[in-house]
Amino acid sequence: MEVSPRPLVLATRNRHKLREVRRILAPWRLTVEPLPELVQLPAEVGDSFAANASPKARAAALALSRPVIADDSGIEAEALGGAPGFRSARYAGEHATDEQNLRKLLAEAPLGSRVRYVCAVVYVEPAADPGGQPLERVFVGDCTGRLGEPRGSGGFGYDPAFLPTDGPPGKTMAELSDHEKDAISHRGRALRAFAEWFTGRAAA
Ligand code: IMP
Repeated sequence: MEVSPRPLVLATRNRHKLREVRRILAPWRLTVEPLPELVQLPAEVGDSFAANASPKARAAALALSRPVIADDSGIEAEALGGAPGFRSARYAGEHATDEQNLRKLLAEAPLGSRVRYVCAVVYVEPAADPGGQPLERVFVGDCTGRLGEPRGSGGFGYDPAFLPTDGPPGKTMAELSDHEKDAISHRGRALRAFAEWFTGRAAA
């Protein structure tokens, strides 16, 4: 008999992320629900991708008494010693747009230099017994590439200037289809590692 794992909640207010996570987890027939409005998420104050995602997953799992996933992601430029990293969303300022962040990165790191997307997915499952410890697991995925002249209108964030190593030669991430991006992206890799672990556990 096929085991159907419990639906998951994604601890994010980003609808784009919800759509992408649902799409990537669809082959495992995992149901991902949006975060109810009433749940408050903590601010991102960690100093790593996992340290930013983990408090969001914990807070939502505690508030809902349900299994939750959260993710945090960003781009690391070798020429900048790994910056902007977990500060990617705020690189050009607290409320910077994707375009402003991309312009700052291209002003600071040379074309052709190495870059890497990283994504940490954190799963938190509330304790089965009162007083027990929640279960927490972290899954990390990455995607290497080089900086290129901005091209393409797909994706988001730094995608127009990201030439993925594993992609079709010469194409930026913003020129790939959703399916092509998911197959090689940091988020795709982290979520597939999670899905294999999660569904394997449910079936055991
Ligand atoms: P967060 O995971 O919501 O904190 O977002 C991190 C930031 O990293 C985003 O605002 C984007 O600027 C960047 N980022 C993360 N994943 C991607 C991606 O797949 N493509 C392009 N930019 C990304």
